[in-house]
Amino acid sequence: MLLPIALSVFGQLVTPVLSPSAPAPLPGWSWEGGFYQPSELGAAQTSPTPTWSCGAKLLTGRDIVGSNLIQSDCDSFNTNPAEEYDPTNGKYLVPCVVHVITDGSTGFLSLGCVQNNIDTMNQDFLALSGTPGQLGVDAQIEFYLADVDPSGNPTNGVTYTDNAEWFQEADPLELSSLEYRTTLSWDPDRYVNIFVLQINFPASGYVYLPVDPCNCVAGNPLYDGVHVDHRYWGNCSQNSAWAGGRVLTHEMGHYLGLFHTFEGGCDSGLCSESGDLICDTNPEADPASGCGNSSSCGSPDPDRNYMDYGDPYCSLEFTPNQIRRMRCVLESYRPQLGTLVFPGACCFEDGSCELATESGCADVGGTYQGEGSACEPNNCPQPPTLGACCLPDLSCSEVEASECATLGGDYKGDDSVCASFNCAAGACCFANGSCVVETESDCGVNGGIYSGDNTLCVPNPCPQPPAIGACCASDGSCSEQTEADCQVAGGVYSGDGASCSPNPCSQPPVTGACCALDGSCREQTEADCQSSGGSYSDEGTSCAPNPCPQPPATGACCSDDGSCAVLTQTSCAASGGIYQGDDTGCEAVVCSDDVVITVDDDFGENPQANFNSIQDAINAASDGAIILVYPGTYTENLDFVLDFGSKSVAVQSTSGASQTSIDAEWSRGLANFNGTSEGVASLVGFTLQNCDIDAVPPVVFNTPSAINILNGASVEIADCVVQDVINGVGGASGVNSLVLHVASEEGVACGQISFEDCSFSGVSLEEGHFAGIGNCDVSFVSCLFSGIQVLETSNSASMFDVYQAS
Ligand SMILES: [Zn+2]
Repeated sequence: MLLPIALSVFGQLVTPVLSPSAPAPLPGWSWEGGFYQPSELGAAQTSPTPTWSCGAKLLTGRDIVGSNLIQSDCDSFNTNPAEEYDPTNGKYLVPCVVHVITDGSTGFLSLGCVQNNIDTMNQDFLALSGTPGQLGVDAQIEFYLADVDPSGNPTNGVTYTDNAEWFQEADPLELSSLEYRTTLSWDPDRYVNIFVLQINFPASGYVYLPVDPCNCVAGNPLYDGVHVDHRYWGNCSQNSAWAGGRVLTHEMGHYLGLFHTFEGGCDSGLCSESGDLICDTNPEADPASGCGNSSSCGSPDPDRNYMDYGDPYCSLEFTPNQIRRMRCVLESYRPQLGTLVFPGACCFEDGSCELATESGCADVGGTYQGEGSACEPNNCPQPPTLGACCLPDLSCSEVEASECATLGGDYKGDDSVCASFNCAAGACCFANGSCVVETESDCGVNGGIYSGDNTLCVPNPCPQPPAIGACCASDGSCSEQTEADCQVAGGVYSGDGASCSPNPCSQPPVTGACCALDGSCREQTEADCQSSGGSYSDEGTSCAPNPCPQPPATGACCSDDGSCAVLTQTSCAASGGIYQGDDTGCEAVVCSDDVVITVDDDFGENPQANFNSIQDAINAASDGAIILVYPGTYTENLDFVLDFGSKSVAVQSTSGASQTSIDAEWSRGLANFNGTSEGVASLVGFTLQNCDIDAVPPVVFNTPSAINILNGASVEIADCVVQDVINGVGGASGVNSLVLHVASEEGVACGQISFEDCSFSGVSLEEGHFAGIGNCDVSFVSCLFSGIQVLETSNSASMFDVYQAS
């Protein structure tokens, strides 16, 4: 059933052709070190003549070019041992399943015996030291008995089958062979199926090459697998002393695409396209035998190669190109089979790291870091990093940073080179007075001031900043400044370098606003405030603005008598004083002692006037008083309308002569001043009129006059109009009468007498003078005289009669 399926599926039959000859084992052969132990492992099995033949794929197949040919670096026609197939690129871990087929009594292999040949194969493929494979080349391909079966279940990687028909294999293409393969095979894409049974044709093992042009082997359970006769299995079977397990090594080489070294004979042509397609195996005309040094093609035969037929004990190697071809086959034809692992980190002198096998690392001169070590992160020792170092002598050297520091140089950074730096340097001064020798550009970058090339820092050429220290102000505040500045500010210098942090200054006593009764404020301690009778506010309170309650405003208050006192406005008014305004002081105010007396004839203009008679006011007044006269016509029933006597009072109208009159009503004199006084009597702003001198009784010298200024009185009359003064009217004699009589008794000095801005008119005297002036000076200033008639009668008549008083 299976064969037709195979034929129909693949269209052609792959025919293994057996090797014709089988060399005999060497008698008395043994390994050094007692590696083989046939007495323990050997089975009581039927002993065939030991044979070294193999049923691997023959060259005839290479002439069949199918359309489905896989083109690769390791196809049937070519080996391209590219770098990518080198063992340094990782290790393949390849799972195997060993199918032990017996007839029920013959062919059984214990698990230990199965494992034994797997181990031997690894010794050869990995060139493990201390084993027969140690002289070979490490292929970095390691085999192991599968631990997981195709269903994902745990397994020991060995199957046992009792089937006599399958066990006895007469032809690899007989139905029973196709049947056991398809029955027993685990997925050939993922496992190496190794069948151990009894091969009854002249072969100790056989394999269908996976790179057959039909492309119908790899992964095909009909053909794909390694077949080994149980009698050649490991060190534990009947012929193990002869084969030593190398049959499996050899067949695995075929399984991974290697041809026999004698495959193409001597016709080498292009070594990668003829013979065994491998260039580092010499061409060979026939299979080698024994351990001879044959030379079938003019060069030494590769009789030590695992893929030749030399005695197994002489077999010791796969060549590097064979290994690359096998790894290429794994990648190209059995991509699901092996797991590629990178055993460890390989460190190179330049500090770089690559994953590699131990041997691969050694091959490329690296240092292997051990299995499982990684390149990420890179733990490889790094070569020293050099950089440009500007030395103190301004030369440059490329050294390590640490060495540069040791030399006192200026390291310019990893990988910097001297060609990029001008090491010319000089002293660079910083604001704090420190000095560093560096390049001009570095100095600028660092904020220093370059002193010029080749200038040095020893001794330090940099200007030193003035020393500063804590400076304590009287208020306990602290500032760091120079001693000079501190002194200028009135502070107390604490010494160079003294810090304000913490504040070392003695703190002034706590003060607060202290309010005095006068509302003034001073910031002082509570004790000081209390001792000064003030009212202390809280600590820290300020006098700005003034928080103190302010007393009522006061000012100078002038009393009637001219005295001054500082009072409130209310108090001043209550005392009858005159308030001079807030905050005025008595020292700045001159209080007049003048007493003002007011007179209004009809109380019309000033109802509050003191009097309605001027004479009453004069009578009441003291010297120096001022008598203000409101408009009206004032008369009296006395000898004169106004009799000042000796009083030096000032009588003045409020509205001038045109509205205020002194009217004698033709029956009395106008004004009489008589007597000395320290002051001056004055009469300002009046019209004086209607005086008949004949009606005026004489005061002195029996001479009547309208106006008398007598006996040292000082008088000022201003802004006045004197009019209508006569005598003789109505038949009176009118002898020697005067309008103005100025005289003093003997021994009495005259006063100061003046008329200013006065007019005289309507004067008509039948006998006398306008003015009789004895021994005194009278000043008329800006006075106007008009209509003055002085008639001459019995006595001489003149305007002015100046005489010496007797
Ligand atoms: Zn072979």
